[in-house]
Amino acid sequence: MFIESFKVESPNVKYTENEIHSLYNYDTTELVHEEKNGAYQWVVKPKTVKYEFKTETHVPKLGVMLVGWGGNNGSTLTAGVIANREGISWATKEKVQQANYFGSLTQASTIRVGSFNGEEIYAPFKSLLPMVNPDDIVFGGWDISSMNLADSMARAKVLDIDLQKQLRPYMESMVPLPGIFDPDFIAANQGARADNCIKGTKNEQIQKVIKDIREFKEANKVDKVVVLWTANTERYSNVMVGLNDTMESLFASLDRNEAEISPSTLFAIACILENVPFINGSPQNTFVPGVIDLAIKRNTLIGGDDFKSGQTKMKSVLVDFLVGAGIKPTSIVSYNHLGNNDGMNLSAPQTFRSKEISKSNVVDDMVSSNAILYEPGEHPDHVVVIKYVPYVGDSKRAMDEYTSEIFMGGKSTIVLHNTCEDSLLAAPIILDLVLLAELSTRIQLKAETEGKFHSFHPVATILSYLTKAPLVPPGTPVVNALAKQRAMLENILRACVGLAPENNMILEYK
Ligand code: NAD
Repeated sequence: MFIESFKVESPNVKYTENEIHSLYNYDTTELVHEEKNGAYQWVVKPKTVKYEFKTETHVPKLGVMLVGWGGNNGSTLTAGVIANREGISWATKEKVQQANYFGSLTQASTIRVGSFNGEEIYAPFKSLLPMVNPDDIVFGGWDISSMNLADSMARAKVLDIDLQKQLRPYMESMVPLPGIFDPDFIAANQGARADNCIKGTKNEQIQKVIKDIREFKEANKVDKVVVLWTANTERYSNVMVGLNDTMESLFASLDRNEAEISPSTLFAIACILENVPFINGSPQNTFVPGVIDLAIKRNTLIGGDDFKSGQTKMKSVLVDFLVGAGIKPTSIVSYNHLGNNDGMNLSAPQTFRSKEISKSNVVDDMVSSNAILYEPGEHPDHVVVIKYVPYVGDSKRAMDEYTSEIFMGGKSTIVLHNTCEDSLLAAPIILDLVLLAELSTRIQLKAETEGKFHSFHPVATILSYLTKAPLVPPGTPVVNALAKQRAMLENILRACVGLAPENNMILEYK
């Protein structure tokens, strides 16, 4: 059974005019390595830490500024939200299709809230806490191509033509602001579309981005802005002492107009200085240590890296299942071919390398969780190939072969073939990223040992379900397994309304 909304009634939860306040017992464990009678043994001690959460319930009017707004993802997302907002339907060769938010965790997935008369009751994920309605988002952003969003949508060749015709009037007047173009960081083949660029030194470019954000906020009367990078994948930046290793060295490098500071890093710095959340949807190391340092010092949310949309999402499910089942993946080979502008940009070795890195670490936590299967330091062979094939356009092909060792030296090989419009996978993920980033800035928490409430750590691990290579604060473990990432997010939001984590025990029926 499905319910649209619910309210929690508990002595631990208080709904006031402006916030939800919850008292929460965090049940966890502590490990000690103890000596008893001359022998060492591991002892696990359950412990409970009392937490308080408070969530501001006023939902702001949200502006979302996309870097790379005129790209396939940017134009597809903007079109999709307008189509939903306007209730647009269109004819396909199969049926009359209604706009929807399929593929969005917040808009199209559900959570179990309990049982009623022996039936499991589900509610929308978005009903957990007050969230911005995507239909109300005001979009804007930057692109190094000056093409308006209606023409960008046509250039992307993603949406059905009947839908495009209906959306054109809404999108023709949307024109991206000039972006920061640096040919050293993206493939040379992108130069042809760069007709809309911010001039000046790196410090001047940062100031221009800050001015753009302020003017956008003012012109659209939005309360909050979130900025998200969905522009081309850049090559990795060198990380060096004195260049970008600390906030101070980064600022000094900017003063010298240092060439090695990438456009995405400049956008990130501008947003952090303006206290605007910044999310990186591409694989490059935008968040060099100096940027992370700056974000922590200014307590501004940053999140990334690289949308987890297709092949990697599947990998973070499949390898988790195999290793969790006691089966040993020994070889994982992933081929992709795609023909959109992202594919063209990734055909250069240095930008491909960024993608290769972000796709490569996804099985690490699962492998290291099982020392029965893997010797220390042992790792499955893991290869990623990406080829540019213009004819297939945005309809990416992903082919994967997983070989595993099973019982008594047997081998099991699983082969997957996925064909899918890349931007239709990425757009709902962008939506979730900005909605959850906004929500998380309204949540404050405090452990019993802490004197006052604070926000989540500015490096937003809460977004990791949506990213291929989750950015985590220094010293924090990276979790890639999809089910764990989803449970973390859901359970934290449940804690904010005083609900216990979903433990799947269903003792009611045992
Ligand atoms: P795209 O090439 O269609 O769009 C990128 C846009 O960014 C282009 O319009 C380009 O002109 C613009 N641009 C480039 N550099 C810029 C800059 N410095 N400032 C402003 N604009 C700039 O690509 P896409 O398919 O929309 O993908 C965007 C990014 O998302 C890529 O890096 C891709 O790797 C990443 N990504 C996509 C998916 C997916 O499923 N679609 C998944 C994971 C990651």
